[in-house]
Amino acid sequence: MNRTKPPPAAAPAKPPPAKPVSGAGRSGAPKPQGVSKPQGVSKSQGTPRSQGTKPGGATSASPAERRLSGIAISEGVAIGAVFGAVEPEIEPPRRRIQAADIEAERSRLDAAITQSKKQLVKLRARLDMLPEESQAEIAPLIDAYLQMLGPSRLTRTMRQRIEEGLVAAETAVHDTGDAMAAAITAMADEDGKGGEQRASARRHADEVREISRRLIRNLTRQPFRSFTALPAGAVLVCEYLRPADVALLDPARLAAVAADEGGADGHTAIMLRALGVPAVLGVADLTAAAPPGTLAVVDGGKGEVILNPTPATLAEARRAVTGFARQRQQWARLKRLPAITTDNQAVELQANLELPAELPLIAQAGAAGIGLLRSEFLFMNRERMPNEDQQAEIYRGIIEAMGGDPVTIRVLDWSGEKEIDALVAEGLVPDLPPVNPALSVRGLRLLLRQPELFETQLAAILRAANAGPVRVLLPMVTTIGELRRAREVFERVVRRLRRRGERLPEPLPPLGIMIETPAAALSADALALEADFFAIGSNDLTMYTLAVDRGEAIVASLYDPLHPAVLRLMQFAIEAALLLRKPVSVCGELAANPKFTPLLLGLGLRSFSMNSSAVPRVKQAVRGVSAEACARFARRVMEQNDSSLIDELLSEFAEANE
Ligand code: PEP
Ligand code: MG
Repeated sequence: MNRTKPPPAAAPAKPPPAKPVSGAGRSGAPKPQGVSKPQGVSKSQGTPRSQGTKPGGATSASPAERRLSGIAISEGVAIGAVFGAVEPEIEPPRRRIQAADIEAERSRLDAAITQSKKQLVKLRARLDMLPEESQAEIAPLIDAYLQMLGPSRLTRTMRQRIEEGLVAAETAVHDTGDAMAAAITAMADEDGKGGEQRASARRHADEVREISRRLIRNLTRQPFRSFTALPAGAVLVCEYLRPADVALLDPARLAAVAADEGGADGHTAIMLRALGVPAVLGVADLTAAAPPGTLAVVDGGKGEVILNPTPATLAEARRAVTGFARQRQQWARLKRLPAITTDNQAVELQANLELPAELPLIAQAGAAGIGLLRSEFLFMNRERMPNEDQQAEIYRGIIEAMGGDPVTIRVLDWSGEKEIDALVAEGLVPDLPPVNPALSVRGLRLLLRQPELFETQLAAILRAANAGPVRVLLPMVTTIGELRRAREVFERVVRRLRRRGERLPEPLPPLGIMIETPAAALSADALALEADFFAIGSNDLTMYTLAVDRGEAIVASLYDPLHPAVLRLMQFAIEAALLLRKPVSVCGELAANPKFTPLLLGLGLRSFSMNSSAVPRVKQAVRGVSAEACARFARRVMEQNDSSLIDELLSEFAEANE
């Protein structure tokens, strides 16, 4: 079976290894940080080992080849030396406070303690996924950390230091951690304790430092930015990669990406796919097994990472690299051919855009415009929110680059997963991520609560829309009231811009909605009366329908867009749109899998938006089928109630039409 979702055997998530070859996640993130094994670890493991690696991959000690499986994220095979992304040392700026600020700083410290505890509890809950020896090693460590975060001398002293030293919470944490760790080691040395006891004291001191680091990361939300040292052609290996981290990667310098954590359809996965970098996520034990410098083969299509490949494996991998390049060339030939079915039904194949770096890829793929511009990138990795002029310039640049092809700009879809520091810095979202970010204030909910943010973005889009055809897309709609309120804001912005004497396109850009919640899908008949178009977001629709976190490796095998419940919701929404002749497209990851194309065509869809590298493959699938046969096929599929059977039907249909 070859599905977009990982096979059930996909490696489950595991708590990060007992080493600070740390993931790119940071403590402000909803993803927990790893538990660093305190003793004897170096913080400077970020560059590949240059010694000991012979050409051809065998190291001087000739370590055995090791195959690790994970979740196939982004196709392609790459060979390179492992670069372990390390977390930077945290040295918070020293900050003094006034007596009046003591309470506020204590509350900040309490919030960071609560957040740290939550992260650790989450990690502990995942321990049973690990081999027994690792569990035995890590569990007591997590318990020790939790104890220290309780009513301990450590936390008491930190609070005291805020009050007595009149310093900010992070300064108090840093100073207390350092002083206490130093005192523990000094005491053991002074007492002339034996080697075993001294080692134990050193371990305890390291635990104290580790807890301080965690608290400081949670207090300062310090972004991870250590990719500048990434050598060309390296395989980036880390525990966890946030979408904001991917935005910092240069695909031209990177051979591949592999991480311990992550799911098939989380935003990290989507962005890696968008960059066209071979990638595997959810590889249990990876960072522990792959020290920097290890030669690795990453097969993003199979979801496999091979460490220390034998010469035979290496030769095979080199053939796969060449084979994949050849296949890309074949697909490139499809670029100029139209996307039409054998019975002449035209199909619109557009690209999703997550980062401006993808623009050349979109042109190469022959996509007919941008069907989903995820505007989050504009707001990531910066300290202040971009203003109207800055945003307008970026949108205009993209619209102009599309040379008259339509661009659908989705307004900011913030959620806990897509961390945007500037939003926190400007007080637009709470400092602490909500308990359940997916069900909290995200997407349109945030924009309606923060009208200035919404109005600024709409104004920028409207101004840029003079440069070419644009549509505006609203994320995470659940009620018709939200759509109405959003339209009021849209119209208010139009009036304001006109009063300001701005030239606006005529007609104005259509205002559409994402169908990505079961509520929106089941209200699609009513929503279609008021929305100008629908874009079906199968990623979130699957997540919310099946109650499965799309970014979590541990439940990845349950994430199934072919579940009849998901398909029925999609069918209902498509039919509602078609009935009222409203444009409807699908822009989730489902759209990128050519195996699903006949079913989606059969359900009535004629517009797809996907990562640009998938456009040629989907075009090939479109050109190989008749719309009529697809409609018959879809009727058969929709009678099924078992997704594995549906999957088989899809495979059979695809094979028969190859
Ligand atoms: C979706 O949910 O399917 C979608 C396209 O939006 P995103 O992946 O950005 O949440
Ligand atoms: Mg979505």
